[in-house]
Amino acid sequence: MKEKIYTIPVNEAYDKDCECPLCELEKQLEREGVSYALGAAMMEPDYRVASNEKGYCNHHFKMMFEIPKKLPLALVLDTHLEEIRKKLEKFDKQVSSLEKDKAGLFKKSSADKTAAEIADILGAKEKQCMVCEKMNKTMEKFIDVLLYMWAADDEFKAKFDRSKGVCLKHFKMLAENVTKSLKPDKQGPFLAALIKKQSAELKRIQDDVHKFTLSFDYRNKDMELGTAADAPIRTIEKISGYINNEVDKEV
Ligand SMILES: [Zn+2]
Ligand SMILES: [Zn+2]
Repeated sequence: MKEKIYTIPVNEAYDKDCECPLCELEKQLEREGVSYALGAAMMEPDYRVASNEKGYCNHHFKMMFEIPKKLPLALVLDTHLEEIRKKLEKFDKQVSSLEKDKAGLFKKSSADKTAAEIADILGAKEKQCMVCEKMNKTMEKFIDVLLYMWAADDEFKAKFDRSKGVCLKHFKMLAENVTKSLKPDKQGPFLAALIKKQSAELKRIQDDVHKFTLSFDYRNKDMELGTAADAPIRTIEKISGYINNEVDKEV
């Protein structure tokens, strides 16, 4: 039996009427991750060491910045920037030799090497984010549990069939985990159910967004939009995952 701390949230997400229950889970994890980074984590020395080293991605810094209290954020930024500067310190020592660097036919410029090293260090940094890391790890668990529940729990299977499918990002994640998380005899049937679901739901959403475009034609000025009224945002979220995630302003 899979752990309840994972099965309960997956079940609850599938109780919601939404375009992607996995996005709902991710949104929640993201909000918790951001609140934690500027709240309880301030008292966790291990987390602080890791956060000083890795920092956060642009998107999660933006969410942190939306929280009104700025002191925890400033403390995080202060110590993280100190680490970044330490990593870049060695380039200061290369400035004078770079200034005098005279490359020629027989002498290679040292600029190449230094430029590549700077790009390496900053490139590695770009990929690091404490919130993303934790969120991705937990999402992997949720996906694994979802596949397990689909195979073992008929009630969940029915919920899956009633749902509106998932976004393309999570469609990909589910497909990637089929062979890892399911026994061979369940892999084909799950994939078939997933493809059937996604195909029908993508058609539904395109019908809606198409209807939305038609409503701008003067001949359709009295058209009832119905479910198509918010089609553009739902289509974006179906294609590329959620784009709106409000932080908890009380942190
Ligand atoms: Zn999603
Ligand atoms: Zn991030």
